[in-house]
Amino acid sequence: MYDVKSKDANEFIDDAEVLASLEAAKKLSADKAEIDRILAKAQKYHGLTHREAAVLLEIQDEQTLNKMYEIAREMKETIYGKRIVLFAPLYLSSYCVNNCKYCGYKCQNDIARRRLSQEELREEVRALEAMGHKRLLLEAGEDDSNCPIEYILECINTIYSEKFKNGAIRRVNVDIAATTVENYGKLKDAGIGTYILFQETYHKPTYLAMHSGPKRNYEWHTEAMDRAMQGGIDDVGIGALYGLYDYRYETVALLMHAEHLEAAYGVGPHTISFPRLLPAEGVDYGSFQLVNDRDFKKIVAIIRLAVPYTGMILSTREGISFRRELLDIGISQMSAGSCVGVGGYAQKGGEQACETGETPQFYLADHRKPLDVLKWLVEDGYVPSYCTACYREGRTGDRFMPLAKSGQIGNFCSPNALLTFEEYLSDYGDDELRQMGRKLIDKEIANVPDEKRRAAATAYLARIRSGERDLRF
Ligand code: SF4
Ligand code: SF4
Repeated sequence: MYDVKSKDANEFIDDAEVLASLEAAKKLSADKAEIDRILAKAQKYHGLTHREAAVLLEIQDEQTLNKMYEIAREMKETIYGKRIVLFAPLYLSSYCVNNCKYCGYKCQNDIARRRLSQEELREEVRALEAMGHKRLLLEAGEDDSNCPIEYILECINTIYSEKFKNGAIRRVNVDIAATTVENYGKLKDAGIGTYILFQETYHKPTYLAMHSGPKRNYEWHTEAMDRAMQGGIDDVGIGALYGLYDYRYETVALLMHAEHLEAAYGVGPHTISFPRLLPAEGVDYGSFQLVNDRDFKKIVAIIRLAVPYTGMILSTREGISFRRELLDIGISQMSAGSCVGVGGYAQKGGEQACETGETPQFYLADHRKPLDVLKWLVEDGYVPSYCTACYREGRTGDRFMPLAKSGQIGNFCSPNALLTFEEYLSDYGDDELRQMGRKLIDKEIANVPDEKRRAAATAYLARIRSGERDLRF
Protein backbone atom coordinates (compact mmCIF):
# COMPACT_ATOMS: atom_id res chain seq x y z
CA MET A 1 0.00 0.00 0.00
CA TYR A 2 1.32 3.39 -0.96
CA ASP A 3 2.27 5.49 2.07
CA VAL A 4 4.48 8.50 1.44
CA LYS A 5 5.54 8.72 5.10
CA SER A 6 6.20 5.02 5.64
CA LYS A 7 9.77 3.97 6.49
CA ASP A 8 9.31 0.82 4.39
CA ALA A 9 10.77 1.09 0.88
CA ASN A 10 8.01 -1.08 -0.58
CA GLU A 11 5.41 1.38 0.70
CA PHE A 12 6.98 4.75 -0.15
CA ILE A 13 8.02 3.38 -3.56
CA ASP A 14 4.87 1.33 -3.99
CA ASP A 15 5.03 -0.51 -7.30
CA ALA A 16 1.23 -0.39 -7.74
CA GLU A 17 1.25 3.40 -7.30
CA VAL A 18 4.01 3.81 -9.91
CA LEU A 19 2.11 1.63 -12.38
CA ALA A 20 -1.21 3.36 -11.65
CA SER A 21 0.45 6.75 -12.22
CA LEU A 22 1.84 5.60 -15.58
CA GLU A 23 -1.50 4.10 -16.63
CA ALA A 24 -3.48 7.21 -15.66
CA ALA A 25 -0.92 9.38 -17.48
CA LYS A 26 -1.56 7.60 -20.79
CA LYS A 27 -5.22 8.68 -20.70
CA LEU A 28 -4.68 12.16 -19.22
CA SER A 29 -1.97 13.04 -21.73
CA ALA A 30 -4.55 12.86 -24.54
CA ASP A 31 -6.31 15.82 -22.90
CA LYS A 32 -4.61 19.02 -24.02
CA ALA A 33 -6.33 21.02 -21.26
CA GLU A 34 -4.76 18.77 -18.63
CA ILE A 35 -1.27 19.23 -20.10
CA ASP A 36 -1.83 22.99 -20.19
CA ARG A 37 -2.99 22.93 -16.56
CA ILE A 38 0.14 21.06 -15.46
CA LEU A 39 2.46 23.36 -17.40
CA ALA A 40 0.68 26.41 -15.95
CA LYS A 41 1.17 24.97 -12.45
CA ALA A 42 4.85 24.36 -13.18
CA GLN A 43 5.22 28.03 -14.13
CA LYS A 44 4.39 29.00 -10.54
CA TYR A 45 7.60 27.21 -9.38
CA HIS A 46 5.79 25.24 -6.68
CA GLY A 47 6.72 21.88 -8.15
CA LEU A 48 4.68 18.99 -9.55
CA THR A 49 3.48 15.70 -8.09
CA HIS A 50 4.78 12.40 -9.42
CA ARG A 51 1.37 11.85 -11.06
CA GLU A 52 1.60 15.17 -12.91
CA ALA A 53 5.18 14.45 -13.96
CA ALA A 54 3.99 11.09 -15.34
CA VAL A 55 1.59 12.93 -17.65
CA LEU A 56 4.38 15.16 -18.98
CA LEU A 57 6.51 12.07 -19.67
CA GLU A 58 3.91 11.05 -22.26
CA ILE A 59 4.29 14.23 -24.34
CA GLN A 60 5.47 13.40 -27.85
CA ASP A 61 4.65 16.40 -30.05
CA GLU A 62 7.50 18.81 -30.65
CA GLN A 63 5.47 21.94 -30.03
CA THR A 64 4.44 20.95 -26.50
CA LEU A 65 7.92 19.64 -25.77
CA ASN A 66 9.41 22.97 -26.82
CA LYS A 67 6.93 24.82 -24.62
CA MET A 68 7.99 22.64 -21.68
CA TYR A 69 11.69 23.29 -22.40
CA GLU A 70 10.99 27.00 -22.49
CA ILE A 71 9.38 26.88 -19.03
CA ALA A 72 12.27 24.80 -17.69
CA ARG A 73 14.74 27.30 -19.18
CA GLU A 74 12.99 30.28 -17.58
CA MET A 75 12.77 28.50 -14.24
CA LYS A 76 16.45 27.59 -14.33
CA GLU A 77 17.40 31.17 -15.13
CA THR A 78 15.10 32.71 -12.48
CA ILE A 79 16.09 30.41 -9.61
CA TYR A 80 19.72 29.59 -10.40
CA GLY A 81 20.78 32.54 -12.51
CA LYS A 82 23.84 31.86 -14.66
CA ARG A 83 25.94 29.93 -12.15
CA ILE A 84 27.05 26.33 -12.67
CA VAL A 85 28.64 24.70 -9.63
CA LEU A 86 31.70 22.59 -10.44
CA PHE A 87 33.10 19.59 -8.59
CA ALA A 88 35.41 16.63 -9.15
CA PRO A 89 34.89 12.97 -8.27
CA LEU A 90 37.77 11.37 -6.34
CA TYR A 91 38.02 7.58 -6.43
CA LEU A 92 39.49 6.18 -3.21
CA SER A 93 39.18 2.44 -3.73
CA SER A 94 38.27 0.02 -6.50
CA TYR A 95 37.72 -2.97 -4.18
CA CYS A 96 34.15 -4.18 -4.38
CA VAL A 97 32.33 -7.27 -3.16
CA ASN A 98 29.28 -6.63 -5.34
CA ASN A 99 28.69 -7.79 -8.87
CA CYS A 100 26.49 -5.07 -10.34
CA LYS A 101 25.95 -6.01 -13.97
CA TYR A 102 26.48 -2.46 -15.31
CA CYS A 103 29.71 -1.54 -13.51
CA GLY A 104 33.40 -1.88 -14.43
CA TYR A 105 34.29 -2.45 -10.75
CA LYS A 106 32.09 -5.53 -10.33
CA CYS A 107 33.90 -8.25 -8.39
CA GLN A 108 33.67 -10.72 -11.28
CA ASN A 109 35.87 -8.42 -13.39
CA ASP A 110 39.47 -9.53 -13.16
CA ILE A 111 41.06 -6.10 -12.75
CA ALA A 112 43.87 -4.80 -10.59
CA ARG A 113 42.26 -3.46 -7.40
CA ARG A 114 43.69 -0.94 -5.04
CA ARG A 115 42.93 1.80 -2.60
CA LEU A 116 44.84 5.00 -2.09
CA SER A 117 47.30 5.24 0.78
CA GLN A 118 47.05 8.49 2.75
CA GLU A 119 50.20 9.70 0.99
CA GLU A 120 48.73 8.87 -2.44
CA LEU A 121 45.53 10.60 -1.39
CA ARG A 122 47.49 13.74 -0.51
CA GLU A 123 49.01 13.65 -4.02
CA GLU A 124 45.55 13.35 -5.54
CA VAL A 125 44.28 16.26 -3.48
CA ARG A 126 47.33 18.33 -4.44
CA ALA A 127 46.65 17.62 -8.13
CA LEU A 128 42.96 18.51 -7.71
CA GLU A 129 43.80 21.69 -5.88
CA ALA A 130 46.22 22.60 -8.67
CA MET A 131 43.26 22.30 -11.08
CA GLY A 132 41.30 24.79 -8.94
CA HIS A 133 38.84 22.36 -7.34
CA LYS A 134 37.28 23.15 -3.95
CA ARG A 135 34.46 20.61 -3.85
CA LEU A 136 35.04 16.85 -4.12
CA LEU A 137 32.82 13.83 -4.35
CA LEU A 138 34.48 10.76 -2.77
CA GLU A 139 33.73 7.46 -4.46
CA ALA A 140 34.54 3.93 -3.32
CA GLY A 141 33.28 0.41 -4.01
CA GLU A 142 31.73 -1.60 -1.19
CA ASP A 143 34.18 -3.76 0.72
CA ASP A 144 34.14 -3.72 4.52
CA SER A 145 37.54 -5.45 4.78
CA ASN A 146 39.54 -3.44 2.25
CA CYS A 147 37.61 -0.19 2.54
CA PRO A 148 35.92 0.05 5.96
CA ILE A 149 34.19 3.19 7.24
CA GLU A 150 37.29 4.00 9.33
CA TYR A 151 39.32 4.29 6.12
CA ILE A 152 36.75 6.65 4.58
CA LEU A 153 36.77 8.80 7.74
CA GLU A 154 40.58 8.91 7.72
CA CYS A 155 40.50 10.03 4.07
CA ILE A 156 38.01 12.82 4.83
CA ASN A 157 40.22 13.99 7.66
CA THR A 158 43.33 13.92 5.45
CA ILE A 159 41.61 15.91 2.70
CA TYR A 160 40.36 18.63 5.05
CA SER A 161 43.76 18.88 6.74
CA GLU A 162 45.66 19.61 3.51
CA LYS A 163 46.29 23.34 3.05
CA PHE A 164 47.81 24.83 -0.08
CA LYS A 165 49.07 28.13 -1.36
CA ASN A 166 45.68 28.94 -2.88
CA GLY A 167 43.50 27.49 -0.15
CA ALA A 168 42.10 24.02 0.50
CA ILE A 169 39.36 21.59 -0.41
CA ARG A 170 36.37 23.20 1.25
CA ARG A 171 33.66 20.61 0.91
CA VAL A 172 33.78 16.82 0.72
CA ASN A 173 30.64 15.04 -0.46
CA VAL A 174 30.52 11.28 -0.18
CA ASP A 175 29.13 8.53 -2.41
CA ILE A 176 29.64 5.20 -0.64
CA ALA A 177 27.51 2.09 -0.18
CA ALA A 178 24.38 2.14 1.98
CA THR A 179 25.39 1.83 5.62
CA THR A 180 24.10 2.02 9.21
CA VAL A 181 22.63 5.00 11.10
CA GLU A 182 25.72 4.88 13.31
CA ASN A 183 28.09 5.13 10.34
CA TYR A 184 26.07 7.98 8.83
CA GLY A 185 26.47 9.76 12.16
CA LYS A 186 30.26 9.28 11.86
CA LEU A 187 30.25 10.74 8.35
CA LYS A 188 28.25 13.71 9.62
CA ASP A 189 30.77 14.23 12.46
CA ALA A 190 33.63 14.06 9.94
CA GLY A 191 32.11 17.12 8.24
CA ILE A 192 30.77 15.78 4.97
CA GLY A 193 28.56 18.00 2.83
CA THR A 194 26.04 15.86 0.95
CA TYR A 195 25.68 12.09 1.14
CA ILE A 196 24.94 10.78 -2.34
CA LEU A 197 23.70 7.32 -3.23
CA PHE A 198 22.14 6.34 -6.53
CA GLN A 199 19.22 3.98 -6.36
CA GLU A 200 20.35 2.54 -9.73
CA THR A 201 16.82 1.27 -10.43
CA TYR A 202 13.62 1.65 -8.42
CA HIS A 203 12.04 -1.31 -10.18
CA LYS A 204 12.52 -4.08 -7.64
CA PRO A 205 12.61 -7.13 -9.98
CA THR A 206 15.20 -5.33 -12.17
CA TYR A 207 17.13 -4.28 -9.06
CA LEU A 208 17.29 -7.91 -7.90
CA ALA A 209 18.32 -9.09 -11.37
CA MET A 210 21.10 -6.49 -11.66
CA HIS A 211 22.75 -7.08 -8.30
CA SER A 212 24.42 -9.78 -6.32
CA GLY A 213 26.35 -9.34 -3.09
CA PRO A 214 25.22 -7.21 -0.12
CA LYS A 215 23.89 -4.50 -2.42
CA ARG A 216 21.19 -6.91 -3.59
CA ASN A 217 19.15 -6.06 -0.46
CA TYR A 218 16.63 -3.70 -2.14
CA GLU A 219 15.07 -2.46 1.09
CA TRP A 220 18.43 -1.75 2.78
CA HIS A 221 19.56 0.21 -0.25
CA THR A 222 16.30 2.10 -0.85
CA GLU A 223 15.94 3.09 2.82
CA ALA A 224 19.55 4.35 3.02
CA MET A 225 18.52 8.02 2.87
CA ASP A 226 16.12 7.49 5.78
CA ARG A 227 19.00 6.14 7.86
CA ALA A 228 21.28 8.97 6.68
CA MET A 229 18.67 11.49 7.88
CA GLN A 230 18.34 9.62 11.18
CA GLY A 231 22.14 9.74 11.49
CA GLY A 232 22.02 13.54 11.24
CA ILE A 233 22.92 14.06 7.56
CA ASP A 234 20.36 16.55 6.29
CA ASP A 235 21.67 17.03 2.75
CA VAL A 236 21.20 13.89 0.70
CA GLY A 237 21.49 13.32 -3.04
CA ILE A 238 19.48 10.73 -4.96
CA GLY A 239 19.54 9.53 -8.56
CA ALA A 240 18.62 6.68 -10.88
CA LEU A 241 20.98 5.09 -13.37
CA TYR A 242 18.96 5.66 -16.51
CA GLY A 243 19.06 2.73 -18.89
CA LEU A 244 18.52 -0.17 -16.50
CA TYR A 245 14.72 -0.10 -16.75
CA ASP A 246 11.90 1.92 -18.33
CA TYR A 247 12.71 5.61 -17.87
CA ARG A 248 9.09 6.54 -17.12
CA TYR A 249 8.96 4.13 -14.20
CA GLU A 250 12.31 5.38 -12.85
CA THR A 251 11.32 9.04 -13.08
CA VAL A 252 7.98 8.60 -11.32
CA ALA A 253 9.60 6.49 -8.57
CA LEU A 254 12.48 8.96 -8.18
CA LEU A 255 9.96 11.74 -7.56
CA MET A 256 8.09 9.52 -5.10
CA HIS A 257 11.40 9.10 -3.25
CA ALA A 258 11.81 12.90 -3.14
CA GLU A 259 8.21 13.31 -1.90
CA HIS A 260 8.86 10.68 0.78
CA LEU A 261 11.95 12.48 2.15
CA GLU A 262 10.05 15.76 2.24
CA ALA A 263 7.00 14.20 3.93
CA ALA A 264 8.90 12.09 6.45
CA TYR A 265 11.79 14.44 7.34
CA GLY A 266 10.66 17.87 6.17
CA VAL A 267 13.58 18.13 3.70
CA GLY A 268 13.57 16.89 0.13
CA PRO A 269 16.75 15.76 -1.62
CA HIS A 270 19.47 18.39 -1.88
CA THR A 271 20.49 17.07 -5.28
CA ILE A 272 19.33 14.70 -7.99
CA SER A 273 21.94 13.16 -10.29
CA PHE A 274 21.47 12.03 -13.86
CA PRO A 275 23.87 9.23 -14.66
CA ARG A 276 23.03 7.47 -17.91
CA LEU A 277 24.39 4.08 -18.88
CA LEU A 278 27.48 4.15 -21.05
CA PRO A 279 29.80 1.34 -22.09
CA ALA A 280 31.81 -0.25 -19.26
CA GLU A 281 34.32 -3.11 -19.04
CA GLY A 282 32.61 -6.51 -19.27
CA VAL A 283 29.07 -5.13 -19.60
CA ASP A 284 26.59 -6.82 -21.93
CA TYR A 285 23.92 -4.33 -23.00
CA GLY A 286 21.45 -6.99 -24.11
CA SER A 287 18.93 -6.66 -21.27
CA PHE A 288 19.13 -2.91 -20.71
CA GLN A 289 16.69 -0.21 -21.80
CA LEU A 290 19.07 2.52 -22.90
CA VAL A 291 17.61 6.02 -23.02
CA ASN A 292 18.07 8.11 -26.17
CA ASP A 293 18.97 11.81 -26.13
CA ARG A 294 15.45 12.99 -26.87
CA ASP A 295 13.92 11.12 -23.94
CA PHE A 296 16.80 12.01 -21.64
CA LYS A 297 16.32 15.71 -22.33
CA LYS A 298 12.63 15.33 -21.58
CA ILE A 299 13.43 13.66 -18.24
CA VAL A 300 15.82 16.46 -17.22
CA ALA A 301 13.23 19.16 -18.03
CA ILE A 302 10.40 17.37 -16.21
CA ILE A 303 12.46 16.88 -13.06
CA ARG A 304 13.45 20.56 -13.21
CA LEU A 305 9.74 21.47 -13.24
CA ALA A 306 8.80 18.92 -10.56
CA VAL A 307 11.46 19.87 -7.95
CA PRO A 308 12.49 23.46 -8.76
CA TYR A 309 14.73 23.88 -5.68
CA THR A 310 16.77 20.71 -5.93
CA GLY A 311 20.24 20.93 -7.45
CA MET A 312 20.57 18.81 -10.59
CA ILE A 313 23.92 17.16 -11.32
CA LEU A 314 25.30 15.96 -14.64
CA SER A 315 28.32 13.70 -14.80
CA THR A 316 31.16 13.66 -17.33
CA ARG A 317 29.47 10.73 -19.03
CA GLU A 318 27.55 13.06 -21.35
CA GLY A 319 29.10 14.45 -24.54
CA ILE A 320 29.95 18.13 -24.88
CA SER A 321 27.22 19.41 -27.19
CA PHE A 322 24.47 17.52 -25.36
CA ARG A 323 25.74 18.86 -22.03
CA ARG A 324 25.08 22.35 -23.34
CA GLU A 325 21.41 21.54 -24.05
CA LEU A 326 20.95 20.01 -20.61
CA LEU A 327 22.58 22.94 -18.80
CA ASP A 328 20.14 25.19 -20.57
CA ILE A 329 17.03 23.44 -19.27
CA GLY A 330 17.90 22.44 -15.74
CA ILE A 331 21.34 21.19 -14.77
CA SER A 332 22.94 23.32 -12.04
CA GLN A 333 26.06 21.30 -11.16
CA MET A 334 28.57 19.32 -13.18
CA SER A 335 31.96 17.73 -12.86
CA ALA A 336 34.95 19.09 -14.75
CA GLY A 337 38.23 17.39 -15.61
CA SER A 338 37.12 14.13 -14.02
CA CYS A 339 39.18 10.99 -13.42
CA VAL A 340 37.07 7.88 -12.88
CA GLY A 341 39.83 5.58 -11.65
CA VAL A 342 41.88 5.31 -8.46
CA GLY A 343 44.95 7.58 -8.44
CA GLY A 344 44.30 9.21 -11.81
CA TYR A 345 44.72 12.89 -10.99
CA ALA A 346 48.30 12.65 -9.72
CA GLN A 347 49.16 10.38 -12.68
CA LYS A 348 47.88 12.88 -15.24
CA GLY A 349 48.95 15.96 -13.33
CA GLY A 350 45.57 17.57 -13.96
CA GLU A 351 46.34 18.01 -17.63
CA GLN A 352 43.06 16.57 -18.84
CA ALA A 353 40.13 14.49 -17.79
CA CYS A 354 41.16 10.86 -17.73
CA GLU A 355 40.18 7.30 -17.18
CA THR A 356 43.63 6.40 -15.74
CA GLY A 357 45.78 3.49 -16.87
CA GLU A 358 43.63 1.22 -14.72
CA THR A 359 40.14 -0.05 -15.47
CA PRO A 360 37.71 2.78 -14.74
CA GLN A 361 34.24 2.41 -13.25
CA PHE A 362 32.81 3.69 -16.53
CA TYR A 363 34.05 5.52 -19.62
CA LEU A 364 33.96 9.28 -20.07
CA ALA A 365 32.50 11.26 -22.94
CA ASP A 366 34.05 14.61 -21.97
CA HIS A 367 37.86 14.62 -21.74
CA ARG A 368 38.53 18.34 -21.49
CA LYS A 369 40.69 19.84 -18.76
CA PRO A 370 38.91 22.24 -16.35
CA LEU A 371 40.38 25.37 -17.95
CA ASP A 372 38.77 24.43 -21.27
CA VAL A 373 35.46 23.52 -19.60
CA LEU A 374 35.44 26.94 -17.92
CA LYS A 375 36.10 28.76 -21.19
CA TRP A 376 33.28 26.83 -22.79
CA LEU A 377 30.90 27.78 -19.96
CA VAL A 378 31.89 31.45 -20.07
CA GLU A 379 31.41 31.57 -23.84
CA ASP A 380 27.79 30.55 -23.21
CA GLY A 381 27.36 33.21 -20.50
CA TYR A 382 27.53 30.78 -17.53
CA VAL A 383 29.43 31.69 -14.37
CA PRO A 384 31.57 28.74 -13.22
CA SER A 385 31.12 28.50 -9.44
CA TYR A 386 33.35 26.84 -6.84
CA CYS A 387 31.00 27.95 -4.07
CA THR A 388 30.76 25.83 -0.90
CA ALA A 389 29.28 28.57 1.29
CA CYS A 390 25.99 27.04 2.47
CA TYR A 391 27.54 23.98 4.01
CA ARG A 392 30.23 26.05 5.71
CA GLU A 393 27.74 28.62 7.01
CA GLY A 394 25.43 25.92 8.38
CA ARG A 395 22.77 26.52 5.73
CA THR A 396 21.89 22.86 5.27
CA GLY A 397 18.73 20.75 5.44
CA ASP A 398 15.75 22.66 6.87
CA ARG A 399 17.82 25.84 7.14
CA PHE A 400 18.57 25.71 3.42
CA MET A 401 15.18 24.78 1.94
CA PRO A 402 13.19 27.87 3.13
CA LEU A 403 15.83 30.12 1.57
CA ALA A 404 15.67 28.12 -1.64
CA LYS A 405 11.87 28.00 -1.77
CA SER A 406 11.45 31.71 -1.09
CA GLY A 407 13.90 32.50 -3.89
CA GLN A 408 16.32 34.26 -1.52
CA ILE A 409 19.09 31.78 -2.28
CA GLY A 410 19.85 33.73 -5.46
CA ASN A 411 21.24 36.47 -3.24
CA PHE A 412 23.79 33.93 -2.00
CA CYS A 413 24.46 31.82 -5.10
CA SER A 414 25.06 34.63 -7.59
CA PRO A 415 27.58 36.69 -5.59
CA ASN A 416 29.31 33.56 -4.26
CA ALA A 417 29.67 32.25 -7.80
CA LEU A 418 31.29 35.51 -8.90
CA LEU A 419 33.66 35.56 -5.89
CA THR A 420 34.82 31.98 -6.31
CA PHE A 421 35.18 32.43 -10.07
CA GLU A 422 37.34 35.48 -9.45
CA GLU A 423 39.50 33.38 -7.10
CA TYR A 424 39.87 30.82 -9.89
CA LEU A 425 40.80 33.48 -12.43
CA SER A 426 43.41 35.00 -10.13
CA ASP A 427 44.95 31.68 -9.07
CA TYR A 428 44.54 29.33 -12.04
CA GLY A 429 43.28 31.23 -15.10
CA ASP A 430 45.31 31.95 -18.24
CA ASP A 431 45.21 35.36 -19.95
CA GLU A 432 42.40 34.36 -22.29
CA LEU A 433 40.10 33.10 -19.51
CA ARG A 434 40.95 36.06 -17.26
CA GLN A 435 39.89 38.46 -19.96
CA MET A 436 36.68 36.61 -20.79
CA GLY A 437 35.89 35.92 -17.14
CA ARG A 438 36.34 39.43 -15.77
CA LYS A 439 34.14 40.83 -18.52
CA LEU A 440 31.43 38.37 -17.48
CA ILE A 441 31.88 39.12 -13.76
CA ASP A 442 31.53 42.86 -14.36
CA LYS A 443 28.33 42.23 -16.31
CA GLU A 444 26.83 39.74 -13.85
CA ILE A 445 27.55 41.67 -10.67
CA ALA A 446 24.90 44.14 -11.80
CA ASN A 447 22.35 41.29 -11.75
CA VAL A 448 22.74 40.41 -8.05
CA PRO A 449 19.13 40.97 -6.92
CA ASP A 450 19.63 42.76 -3.59
CA GLU A 451 21.20 46.22 -3.69
CA LYS A 452 23.13 45.94 -0.41
CA ARG A 453 24.37 42.48 -1.32
CA ARG A 454 25.51 43.82 -4.70
CA ALA A 455 27.54 46.57 -3.03
CA ALA A 456 29.07 44.11 -0.54
CA ALA A 457 29.93 41.66 -3.34
CA THR A 458 31.62 44.43 -5.33
CA ALA A 459 33.77 45.27 -2.29
CA TYR A 460 34.62 41.57 -1.75
CA LEU A 461 35.63 41.24 -5.41
CA ALA A 462 38.11 44.07 -5.02
CA ARG A 463 39.56 42.42 -1.91
CA ILE A 464 39.94 39.08 -3.73
CA ARG A 465 41.69 40.82 -6.62
CA SER A 466 44.16 42.21 -4.10
CA GLY A 467 44.93 38.80 -2.67
CA GLU A 468 42.35 37.92 0.03
CA ARG A 469 40.66 34.51 -0.26
CA ASP A 470 37.57 32.68 0.92
CA LEU A 471 35.23 35.66 1.26
CA ARG A 472 31.64 34.50 1.08
CA PHE A 473 27.99 35.15 1.87
FE1 SF4 B 1 30.65 -2.08 -6.67
FE2 SF4 B 1 29.31 0.22 -6.83
FE3 SF4 B 1 30.28 -0.91 -9.03
FE4 SF4 B 1 28.26 -2.04 -7.79
S1 SF4 B 1 28.22 -0.02 -8.77
S2 SF4 B 1 30.08 -3.11 -8.57
S3 SF4 B 1 28.71 -1.57 -5.65
S4 SF4 B 1 31.48 -0.09 -7.33
FE1 SF4 C 1 25.29 26.09 -3.40
FE2 SF4 C 1 24.70 27.64 -1.30
FE3 SF4 C 1 26.76 28.25 -2.84
FE4 SF4 C 1 24.29 28.58 -3.74
S1 SF4 C 1 25.25 29.68 -2.06
S2 SF4 C 1 26.00 27.63 -4.85
S3 SF4 C 1 23.24 26.83 -2.81
S4 SF4 C 1 26.58 26.40 -1.59
